[in-house]
Amino acid sequence: MSLQSTLENNVKALDCKHFINGQYLTSQSEKTFHNINPATQEVLGQVCEGGKEEIDLAVGAARRALNGTWKKMTSNDRINVIRRIGDIILERKDELARLESLDTGKPYWLSSTIDIPRAAYNFHFFADYLRGLGTEAYQTDDVAINYSVRRPVGVVGLINPWNLPLLLLTWKLAPCLAAGNTAVIKPAELTPMTATLLGEICRDAGVPDGVVNIVHGFGPDSAGSALTEHPDVDAISFTGETTTGKVIMSAAAKSLKKLSYELGGKNPNIIFADSDLDEVIETTVKSSFINQGEVCLCGSRIYVERTVYEEFLQKFVAKTKQLVVGDPFDPKTKVGALIGEEHYERVTSFIQLAKEEGGQILAGGKRPEGLDKGYFLEPTIITGLDRNCRVVREEIFGPVVTVIPFDLEEEVIAQANDTHYGLSASIWTNDLRRAHRVAGQIEAGIVWVNTWFLRDLRTPFGGMKQSGIGREGGMHSFEFYSELTNICIKL
Ligand code: NAD
Repeated sequence: MSLQSTLENNVKALDCKHFINGQYLTSQSEKTFHNINPATQEVLGQVCEGGKEEIDLAVGAARRALNGTWKKMTSNDRINVIRRIGDIILERKDELARLESLDTGKPYWLSSTIDIPRAAYNFHFFADYLRGLGTEAYQTDDVAINYSVRRPVGVVGLINPWNLPLLLLTWKLAPCLAAGNTAVIKPAELTPMTATLLGEICRDAGVPDGVVNIVHGFGPDSAGSALTEHPDVDAISFTGETTTGKVIMSAAAKSLKKLSYELGGKNPNIIFADSDLDEVIETTVKSSFINQGEVCLCGSRIYVERTVYEEFLQKFVAKTKQLVVGDPFDPKTKVGALIGEEHYERVTSFIQLAKEEGGQILAGGKRPEGLDKGYFLEPTIITGLDRNCRVVREEIFGPVVTVIPFDLEEEVIAQANDTHYGLSASIWTNDLRRAHRVAGQIEAGIVWVNTWFLRDLRTPFGGMKQSGIGREGGMHSFEFYSELTNICIKL
């Protein structure tokens, strides 16, 4: 099935309007921008470009709903509504998955088996979590009792990236709603379609008008900055680049908004000689190239103990060369298109830089033959680079990894930590004591041992250093989306 026939027969791309106070609206300025399909470079549709006016309307609606309909709803009703959003996402899974693949260029099998089911699960998980949620209570001898009560933070701005559009948006929205807040969402400008549909899904699930608002647009001088600068927004939850996080922090400082940050990474993947190499390679191909390497958790710096370095490389290169790159709607495709022209130029410029820095390209490094249109790039493996090269140090966020040999445990720990990022890491070893010893020394918010991407939504998710501030997941999400008041009663 070719991409073109899939587009013609099955998929209706959406024109994207804002969703404010329960209604789809165009911009007051009537400004729009093109939504481009990364796999064909064709225009999928038009997106309304919001700005200060639309953010004002959305924040006003969110504030009224916060103190009105949403506040009055019992927590049992709120739980049922949140669960219902998840149910409808599952009922509309195919449609959402198609839109997600059209917008992002990622394989349809990936959208339909991971992105969209997980988006539904985010709502189911946080609805269930809310049912069992309590607070603290302490008795101070015979003098007093203390207990805390939880209340929403208020109107929260949710700003999202393009790589896992609905999955990451719902990872924020579900706990935001469960904690009783109202939301103004700014989806990534490159991937507006599933967010647009989410407005209708929330309405159909029984979410009152004004509780969930969606404003499309860009970051600077557009909807993004209008949201972060708005004096009546209480908190911002942001996922995106570290550099953008710095800009948002200074904008949010003016009204001292509460901030949650999930930022970039340059994650190490440490492979010891005593690991099971076939298992390592199978997972390392995924942790390097799934979603075109456009996952913040991808392991882009691979360190391999020297005694198995050659064997690892030979097997890793062979498996990588088998990955089919191309039409996101072809079931054989393992790697789709990169998100857009600007990003494609950036990722390929790192490959050029690697050559200039003396690297050897063992796999990929170029556009696949026969794919003249679309932002396709072969999965790329680079060796021979020094640890100080920019290609080894900077986040590329594409299907490009470097492989570096090491001799000693202390040496690889130092190299893994030699970065201003601290999001995730994978360690491969069958030595139990070494696994604990190394995991405890890696400066990252998430360390996997003999696996990658295995998630339990109750666990803390987030980065240290310049990879983030705060944690999401289970209780950690509720800590961000709630304010606690301690009530002290003298006995
Ligand atoms: P980005 O920072 O360019 O954009 C993210 C969002 O911020 C977009 O919606 C954008 O419009 C908005 N934005 C940009 N400038 C803004 C401004 N001045 N004010 C307000 N909003 C603004 O990031 P991206 O390119 O969309 O995403 C890729 C990045 O996201 C990578 O660095 C990746 O590592 C990171 N990421 C991190 C995680 C995580 O959980 N840590 C998850 C996914 C992606």
